[in-house]
Amino acid sequence: MNSMPVPLQQVTLHPDLEPIYEVVLRRNPAEPEFHDAVRGVLGSLGPVIERRPEYLDAKLVERICEPERQIIFRVPWTDDSGQVQVNRGYRVEFNGALGPFKGGLRFHPSVSSSIIKFLGFEQIFKNALTGLPLGGGKGGSDFDPKGRSEAEVMRFCQSFMSELHRHIGEYTDVPAGDSGVGEREIGFLFGQYRRITNRYESAVLTGKGLTWGGARVRKEATGYGCAYFAQEMLGAKGSSLSGRTVTVSGAGNVAIYAIEKVQQLGGTVIGCSDSMGYLHDPAGLDLALIKEIKEVGRGPLQEYAARRPGSRFVAGEPLWELPTEVALPCATQNELNHDDAAKLVENGVLIVAEGANLPCTPGAVEVLRQGGVAFGPGKAANAGGVATSALEMQQNASRDSWSFEYTEDRLVQIMRDIHQSCHEMAFECGVPGDYVTGANNAAFIRVADAMLAMGVT
Ligand code: GLU
Repeated sequence: MNSMPVPLQQVTLHPDLEPIYEVVLRRNPAEPEFHDAVRGVLGSLGPVIERRPEYLDAKLVERICEPERQIIFRVPWTDDSGQVQVNRGYRVEFNGALGPFKGGLRFHPSVSSSIIKFLGFEQIFKNALTGLPLGGGKGGSDFDPKGRSEAEVMRFCQSFMSELHRHIGEYTDVPAGDSGVGEREIGFLFGQYRRITNRYESAVLTGKGLTWGGARVRKEATGYGCAYFAQEMLGAKGSSLSGRTVTVSGAGNVAIYAIEKVQQLGGTVIGCSDSMGYLHDPAGLDLALIKEIKEVGRGPLQEYAARRPGSRFVAGEPLWELPTEVALPCATQNELNHDDAAKLVENGVLIVAEGANLPCTPGAVEVLRQGGVAFGPGKAANAGGVATSALEMQQNASRDSWSFEYTEDRLVQIMRDIHQSCHEMAFECGVPGDYVTGANNAAFIRVADAMLAMGVT
């Protein structure tokens, strides 16, 4: 599973972009995830740079690669045994040209400057693709919620917000959830924000509970959106999800709702995974059982195999060894490497759409491209979550609450529009069907044009 990916340096950059990337490397040493994300975007920008040299003159690429503001702070808190614990908090406000900084908070032991900057950088382009007024940012902490009591999580969230509150606001920066941060954590964070500021500022956070300013479909939106994007990709090939075999990695919020929507659209999901291994259920996953194990009990996926005849749990192996027509990586970054991609190609996969942020390594993306597999990058395929956050902000601004059906219709339309812009831009760039080039160029142009209009800021 951990064989060497194709070295990223093999993806050639436009000659005018190479020195810009060199500066990014020098200025951000030892941040490999951030370097990969930057190189991934710059690697596609050749066509737009050729057509719009004014972007280079205005140093737009350099400006976009440099966060507007980065905040790193101490998060001290007391655990249940009375011990003081110290974590590190981050908020990277990457680009605010299109709207307030927007992006999730991740609580996970792997969180570092590199991870937050890679996620924040991707978020700029993802948010631009939604066509909604959203800048890009990301934050989080190396706090590990696993095994922590609810009271510990609450105290941690309160300490985290005691610093973060001075940097965020409805018109400034609007965090949401990401891995390790769900409705419960958003509740603790919102409570502390309200207490400190004495303001009921609903739109300062998204992913709130339904009874206190949250939006219907927000919880489901990233997974649903990914399934809708996959449906559009298949539609562009004259096909659909109906009757297709699908694998979805992960068993968290994104994966669960991607599985739900794929099933509703007529696909059969035969496998999913967690950090211990993967589940194979050739008859199609029993989603109610997965929800019971993961959402209610927060237990291991392995329990499923013991309770469902005909299924098996394969420990320590990648899900991608299962033959499938559609693969939706919905777990975490770098979970699908070039060997996994080669296996998928060998088994005849038709499309891969990323529900997580950069789950496919650069080497994997190259193998899929060479294998003729349609590849939907996360900044397009998983934009449904943040798009629905923007819908939550709209409802908060008008003190309104929309129905599930109306909100989902909006989400479907947004995902169709994103697919169409990527598809059309790929065509314009002379690489029809290349969603990476389409997404990066379409998003870059939106951000760059807004920045050009605003002068040197
Ligand atoms: N964390 C999600 C993402 O990666 C959602 C961000 C948001 O809703 O602001 O897009």
